[in-house]
Amino acid sequence: MKTVIPVPTIPTLAVLGTDERFPVRRIYCVGRNYADHAREMGMDPLREPPFFFGKPSDVVVPGGGVIPYPPQTSNLHYEAELVVALAKGGRDIPASEASACIYGYAVGIDLTRRDLQAKAKDNGQPWDTAKGFDHSAPISVICPVAQVGHLNVGAIWLSVNGVEKQRGDLSQMTWSVPEVIAHISSYMELAPGDLLFTGTPAGVGPIVAGDKVLCGIEGLGELAITIV
Ligand code: MN
Repeated sequence: MKTVIPVPTIPTLAVLGTDERFPVRRIYCVGRNYADHAREMGMDPLREPPFFFGKPSDVVVPGGGVIPYPPQTSNLHYEAELVVALAKGGRDIPASEASACIYGYAVGIDLTRRDLQAKAKDNGQPWDTAKGFDHSAPISVICPVAQVGHLNVGAIWLSVNGVEKQRGDLSQMTWSVPEVIAHISSYMELAPGDLLFTGTPAGVGPIVAGDKVLCGIEGLGELAITIV
């Protein structure tokens, strides 16, 4: 095939235990999926229907590492999250069948320009510049279900410069991973290569250049980034 410009590279993530990589198609993110984080964001933590936003696929930072402090913000926040990687997709996937679509799990950080998000909320504008900016989705190696099983319980934590800032448990999600897959697939057809960020527990906060962020999920391992 001849193309008028170079074909963009499809981003890929490392997979535990193999040299083969996981190609990323789309990134969906769930908002306010832990009640204590909903409370800290000033929202009623009742079980509101899940809502979603997206990040472009090429904002992934495979394996973490050095991340430049983004422009146009003075309030960059970390959000430690369980990331779900899909091997299968579909429309209107019942929650009871959703787990069979999952290839594996990873540790991710949903980097957020909190000041731009607040401004967008105030003005009824979209969140793209707050959430979908370059390098805004560092993700660890993907751990296949075949090796780690399905994760619905286990600690999720994050520290900045060695000081713990977030600690929760996957069991505290308002909407479980299968319920999230069921909901998203009622709006959009999911497909192999899709990633789902599943929300963050309480304790989000700012980071600045020089900060070292380490986050982990029990059973998956850790992800480290340094802001420069
Ligand atoms: Mn998030």
